Amino acid sequence: MSHYDYDLFVIGAGSGGVRAGRMSASLGAKVAVAEDRYLGGTCVNVGCVPKKLMVYASHYREDFEEAAGFGWTVGPRSFDWATLVERKNTEINRLNGIYDGLLKNAGVTLYNARATVKGPHEVEVNGETITAERILVAVGGWPSVPEIPGREHVITSNEFFFMDALPKRVIVVGGGYIAVELAGVLNGLGSQVTQLYRGPHFLRGFDDDVRHFLAEEIRKKGIDLQFNANIAKVDKRDNGTLVATLEDGSTMEADTILYATGRAPNTAGLGLEEAGVELAKGGAIIVNDDFQTSVKSIYALGDVIDRVALTPVAIAEGMVFAHNTYGKGGRKMDYRDIPTAVFSQPPIGTVGLSEAEARTKYGEVDVYCSEFRPMKHTMSGSDERSFMKLIVDTKSDRVVGLHMVGPESGEIAQGFGVAMKAGATKADFDATVGIHPTSAEEFVTMREPVVRAAAAE
Ligand code: NDP
Repeated sequence: MSHYDYDLFVIGAGSGGVRAGRMSASLGAKVAVAEDRYLGGTCVNVGCVPKKLMVYASHYREDFEEAAGFGWTVGPRSFDWATLVERKNTEINRLNGIYDGLLKNAGVTLYNARATVKGPHEVEVNGETITAERILVAVGGWPSVPEIPGREHVITSNEFFFMDALPKRVIVVGGGYIAVELAGVLNGLGSQVTQLYRGPHFLRGFDDDVRHFLAEEIRKKGIDLQFNANIAKVDKRDNGTLVATLEDGSTMEADTILYATGRAPNTAGLGLEEAGVELAKGGAIIVNDDFQTSVKSIYALGDVIDRVALTPVAIAEGMVFAHNTYGKGGRKMDYRDIPTAVFSQPPIGTVGLSEAEARTKYGEVDVYCSEFRPMKHTMSGSDERSFMKLIVDTKSDRVVGLHMVGPESGEIAQGFGVAMKAGATKADFDATVGIHPTSAEEFVTMREPVVRAAAAE
């Protein structure tokens, strides 16, 4: 019998912490979880879930417009931000309740309070010291805003989901997932959106063709997407208008400035360093393959270890931790071929390597591309186009990269992700019968590689 209060004390009830806590409890561990903000963490409260709901909301503008091409007459329409936020909040509250139930039904003790680490086996909650054989830190990340003058006037994704009103003019700063997704939401809902990215081209790390294709599509939808542009300072006028002065000295007015310039591990003030836990430069907790920190009894996973900041990855890490610690063991987290989607408009779906990465890793690769007008838009009146790309390792014939920009590309990439995980070759793709008429069938009917060696460099 353990002489600690708990076998496992989890700090943070986000995707990773909840899964690790529940699984460990179901494998027989006595588990407590502490959460001082909201059950479900970033994803459920200020991330994936409300974002996707708002992407749906923002799509209706186009849907109403396109309906006419199919014979519909759509009457006068208006959008009410307050209703959307209220309905979104109701849904999130429902999910918070589900998380509460999941933990309690698994036999986990939940502390709705902040926990800090006091030692290898001690945490402090509400002034009380609680002991545990193991401590798991899964506190996630927090939006980071650069230290520019006037940064107090800007908002981040945390505040975005609770804004009082839909701003008329918005500047979105950043060129990653969040900036692209929220710029699309705001544009769809009716804001006038300028997106500024500091470098020559946004979505660094994605396939170059995908990045260029999406930039064009986004601009066609009315977002003023500017590269090599960054804000040096923000001033607020008496009437509330924000004035952004860019690094080139030009100025730009907006009602809201939304910063999506990355997220930092949420480790400040947790007592980790005092307890001897080694942190990387940006505050991420350093762990080994078993998610063990430099203090043997303290573990960490999810966004706070800053490996791959995605909800399903945190969940998978939580499963590995629980099984290796309280189950049969022998599991290892596999970070290869993680399918991912950017819920831009149109969305990106991707699995595996970009063309540039594939060339570096495999040398010779065959590249297949297809660009087309989706069937729906032959009648909808929209000029939106879709793009698909396959990258094949010439030597083994394995498909090592699959990319799409177009409707439902997240759904499509998820399915192909299984095939790629199983090591599917181009011959397997070719031998698969397409589903007609779909966009996805393009992936199994790409016959001739396009030679694009120059584009890869
Ligand atoms: P990202 O790291 O993806 O992007 C941050 C962006 O901000 C980059 O374009 C970066 O530019 C830029 N940037 C960073 N610092 C500055 C600065 N000081 N000034 C100006 N620009 C700056 O972070 P996000 O905030 O978009 O998202 C965080 C993480 O959340 C993602 O990495 C992703 O893992 C996850 N996420 C996943 C989603 C999904 O799966 N659909 C959705 C939303 C988030 P540069 O490229 O030059 O460094």
